[in-house]
Amino acid sequence: MPILKIKYIPGKGNRKRRVFVCQCDQCDKIFDRYGKPKAFVFCTNKCRYEAQRKGGILDIRNRRLFREKHGVDYPMQIEAFAEKQDEIRRQTMQERYDTTVPNKIWAVKKRQQEKRRQTMLKRYGTIHPTQVSEFIEKQRATMEENGGYPLQNEKTRIKSFISRFGMSPEEYTKTLPERETYQRVVRSITEQQALATLLHFDKRGAGGYDLDHKFSIAEGFKQSILPAIIGNIANLEFIDSSANRSKGSKCSITLPNLFKSFDKHTQGQL
Ligand SMILES: [Zn+2]
Repeated sequence: MPILKIKYIPGKGNRKRRVFVCQCDQCDKIFDRYGKPKAFVFCTNKCRYEAQRKGGILDIRNRRLFREKHGVDYPMQIEAFAEKQDEIRRQTMQERYDTTVPNKIWAVKKRQQEKRRQTMLKRYGTIHPTQVSEFIEKQRATMEENGGYPLQNEKTRIKSFISRFGMSPEEYTKTLPERETYQRVVRSITEQQALATLLHFDKRGAGGYDLDHKFSIAEGFKQSILPAIIGNIANLEFIDSSANRSKGSKCSITLPNLFKSFDKHTQGQL
């Protein structure tokens, strides 16, 4: 934990803000950090990933801990299995997207999605299949053919909908306008925050960093949390774009922790 020194900068009102001047364990870069550093510090998520890779410092530490506990390094089978899985994944990506580079795959997916949306829009005037009567009719016909029961994959879809959103697909469709309003309000509050005070603000967008809501907007809507809390700076951080994509609508903090952090930032004032 290489903290070089602790300094204080002007914070909210007359308060001072504690800043830890740290040295990155991966690339030795010296940088400021607000949160108290743990065993290892990294200047960027990129450095953290590097450290987790084979031969990286986190990897070496994990191997050492594993060795101390089990007397061996990572079991060979596990590594061989992981490599095989990786190879299968690479092949699938190559076949499907004609590339294995994550950023390029993302771009291809985006293009495909945009194309599908445009086609939907041209043909049906909406991008939501659940709002197209033709599709609903077809679904109903399939259900009738099936003796009134939804197909197996349809059953799975409904089940996963209920576990994800706490409601059926039909109910979900009804919440779409509300959901969009909620998102818009959260986003507008978000952009009014002092984003420049956040780490990696300078790398937003083209620099490979996205603004992320730690407690996700989707979950905020689901649990009826005030947009002012979800959009507050206490809930924001810049994270590596690829990490943001894999995070999706998952939350990286719990609700009690969000409330705690929100209170600290606003001192209880809304
Ligand atoms: Zn670094």
